[in-house]
Amino acid sequence: MPLDDLYREIIMEHARNPQNRGPLAGATFQVGLNNPTCGDEIVLFVDLDDEARVKEAKFEGQGCTISMAAASMMTEAIRGKTLGEALALSARYREMLLGKDDHLDDLGDLALLKGVTQFPMRVKCAALAFTALEKGITHHKEAALHGQE
Ligand code: ZN
Repeated sequence: MPLDDLYREIIMEHARNPQNRGPLAGATFQVGLNNPTCGDEIVLFVDLDDEARVKEAKFEGQGCTISMAAASMMTEAIRGKTLGEALALSARYREMLLGKDDHLDDLGDLALLKGVTQFPMRVKCAALAFTALEKGITHHKEAALHGQE
């Protein structure tokens, strides 16, 4: 099987049977976002443990294969990470979407989405889940700061 076909198959499998799909009651924070150019919709739920690591991440929504596969892979990838580590992963992933090929090993399955760089319209689809993650972390940190005042 050619490598591209194998990648495509793994991406399709994530989109058909997404990991971590469904609501998450009592999540530490949640973010809803959509991508109007494609019609993708996502609500991301993130629950943190006592050490502020991601205990669980889930998502609801609907959209194209790329957006659903990215959400499935992202929610898998951030489990156990601190918020800083999650943001670092997001930054590396965005570099990949901009066409930079270094640090792909750090991305795990997410590196399989590198092919979207050839389709500029799909880059937003691939980025949607991470944009939701970044917004959620930013809001969560701001809320935590206000709580300490
Ligand atoms: Zn899409």
